[in-house]
Amino acid sequence: MFKNLINGEWVGASRTSRNINPSDTRDLVGEYAQADAEQARQAIAAAARAQPAWGLSTPQQRFDILDAAGAEILARKAELGDLLAREEGKTLPEAVGEVVRAGNIFKFFAGEALRASGDVLASVRPGVGVEVTREPVGVVGLITPWNFPIAIPAWKIAPALAFGNAVVLKPADLVPGSAWAIADILHRAGLPAGVFNLVMGRGSEVGQVLLDDALVDAISFTGSVATGQRIAAACVKRMAKFQLEMGGKNPMVVLDDADLGVAVNAAVNSGFFSTGQRCTASSRVIVTEGIHDRFVAAMAERMKALKVDDARKAGTDIGPVVDDKQLAQDLEYIGIGKSEGARLVAGGEAVERNADGAPGHYLRPALFADTTKDMRINREEIFGPVVSVLRARDYEEALALANDTPFGLAAGIATTSLKHATHFKRHSQAGMVMVNLPTAGVDYHVPFGGRKGSSFGPREQGRYAAEFYTTVKTAYTQA
Ligand code: NAD
Repeated sequence: MFKNLINGEWVGASRTSRNINPSDTRDLVGEYAQADAEQARQAIAAAARAQPAWGLSTPQQRFDILDAAGAEILARKAELGDLLAREEGKTLPEAVGEVVRAGNIFKFFAGEALRASGDVLASVRPGVGVEVTREPVGVVGLITPWNFPIAIPAWKIAPALAFGNAVVLKPADLVPGSAWAIADILHRAGLPAGVFNLVMGRGSEVGQVLLDDALVDAISFTGSVATGQRIAAACVKRMAKFQLEMGGKNPMVVLDDADLGVAVNAAVNSGFFSTGQRCTASSRVIVTEGIHDRFVAAMAERMKALKVDDARKAGTDIGPVVDDKQLAQDLEYIGIGKSEGARLVAGGEAVERNADGAPGHYLRPALFADTTKDMRINREEIFGPVVSVLRARDYEEALALANDTPFGLAAGIATTSLKHATHFKRHSQAGMVMVNLPTAGVDYHVPFGGRKGSSFGPREQGRYAAEFYTTVKTAYTQA
């Protein structure tokens, strides 16, 4: 049994969860302890006891531990990538890429611990000096989803620790393996007991304790809109600081002057890779009249060549859907699309066994054409390999369609027009905008986040992470 890490000790539990490989559901990745509410409270209390000393530790101490953790993650990228692909179902190259990203994030925030700075200003009053400094927030609860099992925990844990906070991490129930590996690495890297705690378990039990316990000063959450709304309500009730990263319905605009190959590559990558299970996936492709039919035909052609198979097999383009519930949701939306009158151009069939006959949750990526903006498949996040094409008269209509969504995480445009690219970057109502690139796939050293219903609170990652993981103090001194 893989245990929880509470106050520097590995602690078992009376219940376990079975981590199953979605590429071959006969394959058990491992049994993971399920913390109960009392253990979650113990982890929070341990974090609260450990935080003051950690908050006063030297930047060098924090650098050394985060840098060592990053180095170990990078050195073990093949093994950890294999574990990630096995528990989540993204392809091996994608999984190794995610592990490398997690390692780089730890190294980046190791440096941020050293670079933390403030301001010194003259007061408007004579003889008075003003210092503006950043202090840790305290104990932070981190709640993460299943689709990036190592990168999302990393991009919350690393800044939290770099800025002197203590952490209680509750990873998604479906993919505890990668989070456990990070806990093991941090534990061995020499973190003092209680500074980092891992409590695997159910959101409604363990997650809820994190939301309600007064010792938790801040919550950083990534996951669905419905859970995010609950988290916001619970945090507001007791005035805890919170940050939410939630769903997307990201548009990609393809203009008549686009390079067709660039547009198709970007749309296939952002729509279908990682089995469409990325918050930054583009699920609405908005195509202007002059290129529309050529684009749809090229997409359908390209999709024929995509290999849907075991995530860890060389040559697989698209791994399985993460579990049977998500597969059922994807299929339900494909049915909804058909019943709404959208034309299914390609894919959309569930495949029960992979090329080797192993049972898994496979789905051929689906492309809908002739869709309209009010269809549910164009308004609600499906979170699977399902893309719909919308037809637009011109750039102006395409931009309006792109922004006509309750979400605002990422948006893309394929065009060779500098004028339209520049206008789109300025007028897209998304937190991240890509020109001639997939909407998914971002750097680790710059801010990540969205607007409208996709995000709430400060950005994650890069230097902007300090906004959430620190609190500002303004001190006045009369000389
Ligand atoms: P989810 O909301 O079901 O679960 C996310 C986490 O919240 C899990 O750890 C879960 O156990 C926990 N949780 C559930 N109920 C809780 C409660 N009552 N109290 C506290 N915690 C609770 O999301 P998911 O299915 O794991 O992930 C998919 C979603 O994540 C998609 O909507 C996707 O768009 C979103 N996502 C967003 C981003 C982003 O940065 N915007 C990145 C990745 C995924």
